[in-house]
Amino acid sequence: MTHSHHVSDELLLSYEAGSLAEGWSLAVATHLHSCPECQTRARAAASIGGAMLEAIDIAPLRAGALSAALKAIDAHPLETGESVRRPPVAGDVPAPLRRYIGPSLDTVAWRKLGTMAQQFVIPTGDSETSVRLLRIPAGTPVPEHGHRGLELTVVLRGTLVDEDDRFAVGEIEEGYDGLEHQPRAGEEGECICLAVTDAPLRFKSPLLRLLQPILKI
Ligand code: ZN
Ligand code: ZN
Repeated sequence: MTHSHHVSDELLLSYEAGSLAEGWSLAVATHLHSCPECQTRARAAASIGGAMLEAIDIAPLRAGALSAALKAIDAHPLETGESVRRPPVAGDVPAPLRRYIGPSLDTVAWRKLGTMAQQFVIPTGDSETSVRLLRIPAGTPVPEHGHRGLELTVVLRGTLVDEDDRFAVGEIEEGYDGLEHQPRAGEEGECICLAVTDAPLRFKSPLLRLLQPILKI
């Protein structure tokens, strides 16, 4: 199983259109913050989306609407300029996450999650998603689980290993409905990641299933 480690086109278009729930947006923004490649793709998506909307406004329901849209896209060449360079700031929390958890991953109010891992549930104004930080000791797996919906995971510290795929700081994993997996922290040190889901996980362990309402996962 190999992932792209970047945001999919579908998510990026929805993000630029402003139609993602707060939790998903937060994960996409956190990845974009450190990924010049996706910043360039996001500008292209915004430019295509804007041109199509303009053309649709001008020619609603007319037979030539599609060709007008395509012409408008030609008239708005994709921006391929320099990626946005942001000055480094103190602390290890990416800017989009700071108003939720502050500047440092070491001052988060961690709570136990099972025997090894810790979590911090991030409150949002969004009832569609659950947003949390996970802190996993070096070399330790998270409990094996399956997904009924989408899961976005962005690595903030260390490495997340999923089968033979390794995700470094800033990289994003998109896990889809039906995925069953057991990611683990890399051997070199603890892994902290931002994890956003829209449906309760399906744990293999009956004990974890019992504790799910308490753990809010
Ligand atoms: Zn990217
Ligand atoms: Zn998962």
